[in-house]
Amino acid sequence: MLPTLALVGRPNVGKSTLFNGLTRTRDALVHDEPGVTRDRNYGVCRLDEDRPFVVIDTGGIAGEDEGLAGATAKQSRAAAEEADLICFVVDGRDGPTALDDEILRWLRKLARPTLLVVNKVDGIDTEAAINEFVRFGFKEVIPTAASHRSGIDDLLDAVLPKL
Ligand code: GDP
Ligand code: MG
Repeated sequence: MLPTLALVGRPNVGKSTLFNGLTRTRDALVHDEPGVTRDRNYGVCRLDEDRPFVVIDTGGIAGEDEGLAGATAKQSRAAAEEADLICFVVDGRDGPTALDDEILRWLRKLARPTLLVVNKVDGIDTEAAINEFVRFGFKEVIPTAASHRSGIDDLLDAVLPKL
């Protein structure tokens, strides 16, 4: 079994872009649990060929408890609960939002190893963007600009020792 990294965060922060950057080939694993693939996208990161790991691109964690949004949230929570490591992805341009706070509360309860990824730092003051999230209390914060493939190597360096 390969170790597993889950990308968690509210919609539109760049989780899928990060997923594609890490997995490149989009070679989604066939997961034989019924109903799982709808909102969980599994791939394998082989950027370090000696240390492959599974990446799970989750949908939104937060959401209503009923209907499709609720189903997505449940899937995402389940993905995070089974992961060896979680990357909590936030948007460096937007700064912290109420939804980020909601996810943060949930992650604290979950108490799994978690890194903070501040994405979309392209063309903005990275230091200032990171500082917006200081109160989240993460020891390790990785700035990325996933759509520019920037920061992916740093993310890999942070992630690999923890898997
Ligand atoms: P998800 O909903 O969290 O999976 O987010 P997506 O990966 O679908 O990205 C949402 C939007 O943000 C898309 O239009 C992406 O092209 C854009 N995006 C993702 N990463 C970056 C980034 O690093 N910088 C900028 N400027 N835009 C990004
Ligand atoms: Mg997505």
